[in-house]
Amino acid sequence: MDTQVIFAGAGPGAPDLLTLRCAKALAVADLVIYAGSLVNPEVLQHCRPKCRLVDSARIDLDEVIALIKEAVSWNQKVVRLHTGDPAMYGAISEQMNRLDELKIEYEIIPGVSSVFAAAAALKCEFTMPDLSQSLILTRTAGRTPMPDKETVANFAATGATLAFFLSAGNMENLTKELISGGKPPATPAAVVYRASWPNQKIIRGTLADIFVKVTAAGIRRQALLLVGEVLERSGSLSLLYDKHFSHGYRSQRSDEFFSGRCALYAMSKTGYAKALEIAGALNDAEIFIPERILAGSATVAAESSAKIPVKAFAAGKMDKLLAKTWDDFSGHIFIAATGIAVRKISPLLKHKTVDPAVLVCDENGAQIISLIGGHIGGANRLARKVAGITGGTAVITTATDVHNIIAFDELAARSGWEIKNPAQIKIFNAALLENERIDVLLPDGLFQEHYADMKNLREVAEVAEITAKLAVVFNPPANWQPEPGSETLLVLPKPESQCEN
Ligand code: SAH
Repeated sequence: MDTQVIFAGAGPGAPDLLTLRCAKALAVADLVIYAGSLVNPEVLQHCRPKCRLVDSARIDLDEVIALIKEAVSWNQKVVRLHTGDPAMYGAISEQMNRLDELKIEYEIIPGVSSVFAAAAALKCEFTMPDLSQSLILTRTAGRTPMPDKETVANFAATGATLAFFLSAGNMENLTKELISGGKPPATPAAVVYRASWPNQKIIRGTLADIFVKVTAAGIRRQALLLVGEVLERSGSLSLLYDKHFSHGYRSQRSDEFFSGRCALYAMSKTGYAKALEIAGALNDAEIFIPERILAGSATVAAESSAKIPVKAFAAGKMDKLLAKTWDDFSGHIFIAATGIAVRKISPLLKHKTVDPAVLVCDENGAQIISLIGGHIGGANRLARKVAGITGGTAVITTATDVHNIIAFDELAARSGWEIKNPAQIKIFNAALLENERIDVLLPDGLFQEHYADMKNLREVAEVAEITAKLAVVFNPPANWQPEPGSETLLVLPKPESQCEN
C-alpha cells in the first residue's frame, strides 16, 4: 500500500465491519477525508491521533482535490473514506478523473456495502432458487436524474430482488410505481435504517404498506428498501410471529392487510369495470350492481378473466340489499359518490367497535376514502390496499393516522386483539395526539416497533411498573385492578376461533 491516495470503503457503519486493509490504511494516513453523514465516527478511531480529519460534507469537489493535491505534494498519505463500498454512489469517478489529470496515482479498497449489511440484518439471501437469482442495485431520481431505460417500472417487470439506495424519502411514489409496474401489492418489502449501527431499525411489510410503516417509524434517510419474494424465506416475517410471542396472541390477519370478505357496489358501467379490477385483486369479494347496468355491461364482464361473483339488484332495492350484506361482509366498497354511500349506510351504523369497513372509491380509482370503521373495522387498511390496486390515493382522516401515529385500537385490530373497555379508546387516542404520558405494556418487540420514537410513551414490562395516570395494558394478570383515579385501556388476546382469517 505505497500508493499515496486511497479511496476506501468504510463499510456500512459498525467499526468492526471495516476491511483489515482499510483499517491499515487509516492507521498510517496523514489526511482522511470522510463522508460525515454516513461514516460512523467510531471508524475514525483507527486513525492516528495526529491524522487530519476533514468531513467532506462541508467542502466541494475542488476543495477535496486541492486538499489531496497539497497532501501529496508534502508526501503525505491520504485516505478518501466513503460509506459502504466506494463503487456504489460514491461519486469517486469525478475525483479519479481529476487525479488522472493531475497525474496523481490512487488505488481503491473495497468495503462492505450497506446493501449486504441490510441483507445480514434481515437474515436474507438475495438469491434463492425458484424465487430470484439476480439482484438489482438502484435508486430513484433525486438531484441526479435516472437514465431513461432505468425506470422503476422496468425493474418491476423483472423477477429480480430489488435494492433501492437513496430513496427513503420517496417511498410512497416508489412503491406505487412498483405496483403499477406489475409487482403485486403483497410483494414482501423491507426497509433497513442504519444497517449495522447501534440504532439500526428493521421494518418489514409489503409493497402496499411499507411506506405507511416507514413513515410511522419516522425514517426518511439512511435507509435501504429491499423488495422481493426472497424476504419471506422463513417465519421471520413480522415480530408478531416471533418465537417469544405465544400462539394465542398471533393474529391470522397479521399486521398489514385487510383480509375479510368485501362487497363492492358499482353504480355505472365505468364503476363496474373498476369494481372488477379491485375485486380481482382482493381475496374474497362479490360485486353488486343494478340490473340495468349489468344488462348493458356484457363486454365489461367479458373482459374480466377472474371469476368474481356478480349479483344484480332491482332498481330501488339497494336498501334491502344492504340490510342483508351489512353483516355478511367485513368490508363494503362503494364505487360511487360519497353522498350516495353516506345516505345508504346511515341507518345501519351502530358503533365504531362493531361497524364494518366502509370505503368510497371514485370511478377512476383515484381517491379511495376510508369512510367508516377506520381502525377496528379496518377501513384504513382496506383503503390503502385498494389504493395499491388502483394506483390511487387512500384518503385517511383519522387523526392519529394523519399524525403518523398508530392508535392503540388500530394496533389491537391489526393483531386480532380485542379492547375490553372500548369506551376508553377516545381518551387514549386524544392522549396520544396531545403527547400525554402513557405507560404501555405490550408483547415483546411491539413497543420498539411502533412507539420507540414517542417520548411521551414509556414501555413497562409488568403492571407493577405503571406510574402514569394513563396506561395501556395488554393481557393484564387475572385479578389485577388498575390504581383508583387512573385510566387503563385493557387489551385482550382474542380467542382463536374469533380471529378473522
Ligand atoms: N456506497 C454506499 C452507498 C452510498 S449512497 C454503500 O455501498 O452502501 C447512500 C445511501 O446508501 C443511503 O441513502 C442509503 O440508502 C444507503 N446506506 C448507506 N449506509 C447505510 C446503512 N448503514 N444502512 C442503510 N442504508 C445505508
